[in-house]
Amino acid sequence: MVAQARPPVDVDSILELLSEGGGRRTAARQAIVEAIVAAGNHVTADDIARRVQRRFPSVNISTVYRTLDTLEDLGVLDHVHLGHGRAVYHLTDEEHEHLVCESCDAVIELPASKLKPFLRSIEREHGFEVDRRHFAIVGVCRSCRESSR
Ligand SMILES: [Zn+2]
Ligand SMILES: [Zn+2]
Ligand SMILES: [Zn+2]
Repeated sequence: MVAQARPPVDVDSILELLSEGGGRRTAARQAIVEAIVAAGNHVTADDIARRVQRRFPSVNISTVYRTLDTLEDLGVLDHVHLGHGRAVYHLTDEEHEHLVCESCDAVIELPASKLKPFLRSIEREHGFEVDRRHFAIVGVCRSCRESSR
């Protein structure tokens, strides 16, 4: 058995993974992957579509969503809902949780290990398995709290 490799974060390896999964290597797909990697972190499908459409005006949002879905299936991407349902996509290279500030929309990444004891106790005491990747923890960030004082 081969050890689980870290998911790739560079354009070429992601495209390679896509074509191994049977997807065709189209210019549109390549542009989508490039946009995700260039954006860095936490972008909406609309953000990605806008970036791609600067070069490929014919690429529509449903192509973007399809590619994002495929990349999620391949374990390269994950999405999280910030606040009221807005989904943002991020590369899965480093496992993390999301704190999102309701007043300035800042997204703060938290190492996944921080929440593990809490999630384990929920599972133990309530038999409930939390899908921790899917939703952000919402609140008010330090700088907003300081400026409202
Ligand atoms: Zn993230
Ligand atoms: Zn804030
Ligand atoms: Zn979702």
